Amino acid sequence: MVGVRIDLHTHSNESDGTDTPAELVATAVAAGLDAIAITDHDTTAGWAAAERAVHDLAEPGRFRLVPGAELSCACPDGNGRNITVHLLAYLFDPNSAALAQEQSRLRAERRERLYEMARHMAADGFPVDPDQIMVGLPPDSPGGRPHLARALVNAGTVVSVDEAFARYLGGSGRYYLPRTDTPVRRAIDMITEAGGATVLAHPFATARGPVVTADVVAELTGHGLAGIEIDHPDHDPATRVRLRGLAAELDLIPTGSSDYHGTNKTIRIGQETTPPDSLDRLMARCSGSKVIG
Ligand code: AMP
Ligand code: ZN
Ligand code: FE
Ligand code: FE
Repeated sequence: MVGVRIDLHTHSNESDGTDTPAELVATAVAAGLDAIAITDHDTTAGWAAAERAVHDLAEPGRFRLVPGAELSCACPDGNGRNITVHLLAYLFDPNSAALAQEQSRLRAERRERLYEMARHMAADGFPVDPDQIMVGLPPDSPGGRPHLARALVNAGTVVSVDEAFARYLGGSGRYYLPRTDTPVRRAIDMITEAGGATVLAHPFATARGPVVTADVVAELTGHGLAGIEIDHPDHDPATRVRLRGLAAELDLIPTGSSDYHGTNKTIRIGQETTPPDSLDRLMARCSGSKVIG
């Protein structure tokens, strides 16, 4: 269908976005989108409220919600090092025991890490209060560096979240702390076993840090990876051309998404979109949960 607009990567305040799940749905509808996926980092806590918001819409059947999550994974980069990659997971069973346990572990670790990063900054005299940052999070939310970045903006230390990352919180920043991410093959297995499908998020977003080689993408495809995100704000036109070639070569499902984070980023929801055929292909692979609406 021509004109159908689908955004398969968005965050609510259950992780590090600023919209509540219901606001996320409202924002998407107001932007004229036909479907979004809610893909919070390491949590499915936003699914229920987002689903209710879809059911409460004035025009039933006009808008669809794809339940999902974004998983931080450890992955060999193809050049002898281990890096973090993000895996988008769609339409899996959130009650799958292995997956729920791993996500719970990651959330606990993320909270502790956020607190420690804030504590180190406070100890060095930055005007941030670690306890206040944690109090602002929904219960059991993973939190993330953008929460600390926002606190630094509010305190006037930096003018933007981006500046906080560039100066203090990025991978080579003074206050960066690592996490124990899930090995990527294990994450693919867990999502597949939970009836879902996986898409490698922003695979060649070099501005964020080190990325994997094309050989690694091929290897993950052999392990069950279903798709790759091509149209993402952090991919320039040449990178998109390269990724389109790779998707065709490996028969990976191509997706496009904004990676919307509310006011934590300047990206608009629906700024990048996924071809309807790609969503159909993803849905055909999944049995763990259903598209809402
Ligand atoms: P964390 O989950 O704590 O590792 O933080 C990662 C999140 O921070 C990502 O999902 C992005 O939303 C955001 N982020 C990562 N790098 C940057 C950056 N350079 N500038 C702004 N936001 C970033
Ligand atoms: Zn994020
Ligand atoms: Fe990501
Ligand atoms: Fe994201």
